[in-house]
Amino acid sequence: MLRAGCAWLMAGLAGAWAQPAPSINPNGVVNAASSAAGAVAPGSIASVYGSFLLTSASQAQQVPLPTNLGGLSLDFGTVGAPLFYASSGQVNLQVPWEAAGETQAPLTASLAGQAGEPQSAAIAPFAPGIFAMNSQGSGQGAILDTTYKLVTPSNPAAPGLTTIFIFCTGLGAVSHQPATGAAAPFGPLAETTTQPTVTIGGMPAQVSYSGLAPGTVGEYQVNALVPAGAPIGDAVPVMLSIGGVSSNTVQIAVQYTPDQRAAQLVAQMTQDEKIQLVYGAGGPVTNIIPLPRGAAGYVPGIARLGIPDPYLADGRVGVGTPGGPATALPSSNASAASWDVNEAYKYGTVIGTELRAYGMNVNLGGNINLIGREPRDGRTFETKGEDPMLAGKIAAAHINAIQAQHVIGGIKHYALNDQETDRTTADVQIDERGMRESDLLAFEIGVKDSNVQSVMCSYNLVNSVYACENAHLLNDVLKGSWQFPGFVMSDWWATHSTVAAALAGLDQEQPDNQYFGTLAQAVAAGQVPQARLDDMAQRILRAMYAAGLFDYPEQLAPIDTATDQAIAQEAEEQGAVLLKNAGGLLPLDAATVKSIAVIGSHADIAVLSGGGSAQVIPTGGPALTEGYPNPPGWAQVIWDPSSPLQAIQAMAPGATVQFDDGTNAASAAALAAGAQTAIVFVSQWTSEGMDLPSLNFTDVIHAPPVDQDALVAAVAAANPRTIVVMENGGPQVMPWLASVGAVLEAWFPGQRGGPAIADLLFGAVNPSGKLPVTFPASVNDLPRPAIASGSTPFPVNYSEGFNVGYKWYDSQGLTPLFPFGFGLSYTTFSLTNAKVEGNAQGFLVSCTLTNTGGAAGAEVAQVYLAFPAATGEPPRRLVGWQKIYLQPGASQLVTITVNSSDSSHPLSYWDVNANAWLVAPGTYTVYLGNSSAGTSLMDLGPLEITTLPGGFTARPPRD
Ligand code: BGC
Repeated sequence: MLRAGCAWLMAGLAGAWAQPAPSINPNGVVNAASSAAGAVAPGSIASVYGSFLLTSASQAQQVPLPTNLGGLSLDFGTVGAPLFYASSGQVNLQVPWEAAGETQAPLTASLAGQAGEPQSAAIAPFAPGIFAMNSQGSGQGAILDTTYKLVTPSNPAAPGLTTIFIFCTGLGAVSHQPATGAAAPFGPLAETTTQPTVTIGGMPAQVSYSGLAPGTVGEYQVNALVPAGAPIGDAVPVMLSIGGVSSNTVQIAVQYTPDQRAAQLVAQMTQDEKIQLVYGAGGPVTNIIPLPRGAAGYVPGIARLGIPDPYLADGRVGVGTPGGPATALPSSNASAASWDVNEAYKYGTVIGTELRAYGMNVNLGGNINLIGREPRDGRTFETKGEDPMLAGKIAAAHINAIQAQHVIGGIKHYALNDQETDRTTADVQIDERGMRESDLLAFEIGVKDSNVQSVMCSYNLVNSVYACENAHLLNDVLKGSWQFPGFVMSDWWATHSTVAAALAGLDQEQPDNQYFGTLAQAVAAGQVPQARLDDMAQRILRAMYAAGLFDYPEQLAPIDTATDQAIAQEAEEQGAVLLKNAGGLLPLDAATVKSIAVIGSHADIAVLSGGGSAQVIPTGGPALTEGYPNPPGWAQVIWDPSSPLQAIQAMAPGATVQFDDGTNAASAAALAAGAQTAIVFVSQWTSEGMDLPSLNFTDVIHAPPVDQDALVAAVAAANPRTIVVMENGGPQVMPWLASVGAVLEAWFPGQRGGPAIADLLFGAVNPSGKLPVTFPASVNDLPRPAIASGSTPFPVNYSEGFNVGYKWYDSQGLTPLFPFGFGLSYTTFSLTNAKVEGNAQGFLVSCTLTNTGGAAGAEVAQVYLAFPAATGEPPRRLVGWQKIYLQPGASQLVTITVNSSDSSHPLSYWDVNANAWLVAPGTYTVYLGNSSAGTSLMDLGPLEITTLPGGFTARPPRD
C-alpha cells in the first residue's frame, strides 16, 4: 500500500526558496520496453519524462539500485523507486513491488530535497512490453537465441528448432519476488504466477519459461519455441499477452536452417535432378569443355527449383582458374608465416571477393597438407606449414573470409597427400594416433573453426584404401567424429569406384562422372541406398544455402585491384622471414648507400610464382613466362610483375643500382665487387605435379641451369656485404649461409613482391614473419631422405607418425638449419615476468613483452608444452601464441590462454582404445619463447594435471 507523502509541503518550501522544483510531465510515465503510455506494472521498468533540472546524466553503477541518482529521487507514495538512469529529461526506474494492488500511485520527483508536484501514475497487475532495439518499442526486438546472439537476418531463428529469449517487462507477480531494486535470483528462478501467451508470426508459440531474467532488475524473460509453421521473413512479428493485456509487437528474422531448406528441396527433386548434383559436368563423359567462365569445375544448377549453378575455382594464393587475371598474393605459406589470423583473414578476403567478382561460388582452396613431412613437395607454397595448430587456424581464417563473400569454402587434400611424385599411387601407411595428432588434426581445426562447407579428398591411398573411398577417413572421422555437415568432393579424377566411393562418404565426383554417372543404376540395384543419394544431394544443397548461394545471387563485377594489391603487399611484408642479419647489415640505409648490385632471378623485372592448379595469372599479366624445354610440374613458369630492382632504386634514389642476370657467376661477382652492397635473388620453381630434386636451390627451368649455390658463393666471396633474397615454396638448404651477411625468406612474394621486398630491406617495414616450417640442415635429416615412387600402389611409410616437422627433429635430436617459429627483427624484444596459472580448463601464460631495441616491430610469443613422458607425445607441442606490435621502448602484458576445449586439443592425446582425445594426469612442462628451438625457450616450470571424474585441474605444483 502506497501512502501519499508530504510533497505539497515540500513543493511549498521549494517555492519559498525560489528554487525551481523538478516536475513530471502529465502522462509522463511509460513502459520502458514498449514506450507505451498508460499503466505500468509493479516490479517492472518504466521511463518517466519531465523536467528534472539535472546538468548531467547518471547511470546506476550497481544493484541493488540506488533510489537517488545525482541528487534526484522519485517516490511512488512514500516508496523510493530504484533508479537505473537519470538525466535532465528522462528517468528509468523500477516501479516498486509495493505498488501491487494499487490502480493509481502519486509519483513525486525531488532534487536535493526539493519536491515537485506529484503526478498520478496508473498501475495495473500486467502491462507487458517487449524490449526493442529502437526507442519506440517497435522494429527489431531485443530477442536472443540460446547462444545469446540477437535474432536478426544474419542470425535468423529456425522454425521448429530455435528457442528465443524474449526480454520484456511488466509481467507482474512472480514466485520468488526479490526486494524492490534487488536483482532477480538465479535460483530458484522467479517465475511469473500467470503464464503469458506468445505469438510468432501470428502463430501460438510454446513457452518453456516465463519469469524474471536472472541477475537483472525489473526485466523478464520469456523463452518460446518458434513454431514449426512460422512464416519466413526478416520482420516476423512477435507479441505476448498476459492477463488479457497485450504487449507491443517487435520483429525477428525467421528462416529455415540450411539443412531444413535443403531437405525441403530434396523432397521436391526427381532422381535425375539429385544425380545431376553429384558430379561435375567437365571431362570426357559429360564433355562440356571448356567449362563455362573458365571454371575448374562446373555443376549445372536446376532452374525449375531455383538451384544456382555451382562454379568451382581454384584459389590458394589468389584466384586460380577463371578466364581472367587476379591478384597474385604471396604464398599461402607466407600467410602462415605472419602467425596472424587477422592478417590471414584479409588474405582470404582477396580470394573471396575476387572469386565472387568472377562469378565463382565454390573455392577449391584450403590446402592444409602438412608438408613438413616432405618439404620437397612441389605444392609447399600452397600450404600453411607443418604444425597442425598453426596451419588449422590460418586455414580457418582464410576460409571464414572466403565464405563471408558467399562462396563455398574448401579444405583439402584429405588426407596425407604430401608428395607429388606418383601421387595417385602413393599408399600412405600410418597408425590411427599418428594421423589424428598430425595431418587430421590440422583438418579437424580447419573444419571446426571455419564451418567450411566442402572437403576435397585426395589422390593417394591411406592405409591401402583410396582417400576418396576411404570410409574411415570420410564417414568415421570427418562426418562422424567431427560432425562435418557439408559435402566431400573428389580431387580431379581421384574417384576410383561408384558403389565403394558412395558408401564410403564421397558426395560429389569431379570434374566429371566416370563413376557417379552410373550411380542411378547402383541405387536402382540396391547397391547404394536411396538415403545415401539423398544425403549427397542434401549435403551439397545445405552447403549452398549455408554459404549464401541462394540468398546472395551472383554479382559479376570488376575486381578491386587497388585494395587487393595493397593487401597482397601487406601479406608479403608480414610473412617474409629474416633468417640472418650479421652485424646489422640490414636494414640498408638509403641515405648512405652509394651503390647496389642486384643479381639474378629476373629481379630487374619480376618475382617468381608457384605453379599448378594454384597458379594465378596476375593482374596486368605476367612480367615473363618461361620453361625449357617443358618446366617440371604442369604449368607455365610465371614471373609476377613487380620489379625488386626498381623498388630498390626508388628507395635509394641517390645510389647507383645495377643489375646482373646471374647466369654467369664471374660477371655477377665482378659487379658485386665494385658495389657497396650486393643483393642476390635466388629462386626455386615448384609446382603441382613435381617434387624438388633436392633441398638446394636447383634451377629446373633453364638450359643450361644456373647454379645458384655457386652464384651466391661467388658473389659473397667478392663482396662481404652480400644479402640473399629467396623466392621459393618451402624449406631450402643454404651451403653458402656462413659466407653471406643477410638472408631474407620472401617465399613466392606475389605481384607486389618488389615493393614489399624493398620495404623490408630498407626497414620501411620491420620483418616480423616466423617460419611455419622447419628448414632442415640436410635432406638426410628428413624422415624419408628418398622420395618413394611407383606406377602401382606402393607404400610410403609414415613411421614418424605425429612427429612432423619440429617434432621430428626434436624427437631425433637433430638440429635444423632454422627452427620452426624462427624469424629475426630489426629490433630486439624481452619476455619477462612470465608465469603460468592453471585452472579447470587448462592454463594461462602471462608475461611482459618489451621492445628493447630502436625500431617499431612485432614479436610472436610462442607457448610449447611437453607432456608427461608416459603419454609418448612429441618432446614439445605448440599450444598457443600471440603476435604483438610494439613501439620502441614499449611494453605490453601478454596473456596466452591454453584451453582444453579448443579444437586443437592442446592438452590431450589421441587414445586409441578410447577412440577419443584424453587428458592424461601427470607433470607437464610449459615453455615460452620465440621459436621451437630449445635454446630459445624459457622453461616456465612444471604444471601438474590431476584428472577428476568429468574433468581435470591444472596447477603449478605448490612449493
Ligand atoms: C588439384 C586440386 C585442384 C584441382 C582442380 C587438382 O590437380 O590437386 O588441388 O583443385 O586439380 O584444379
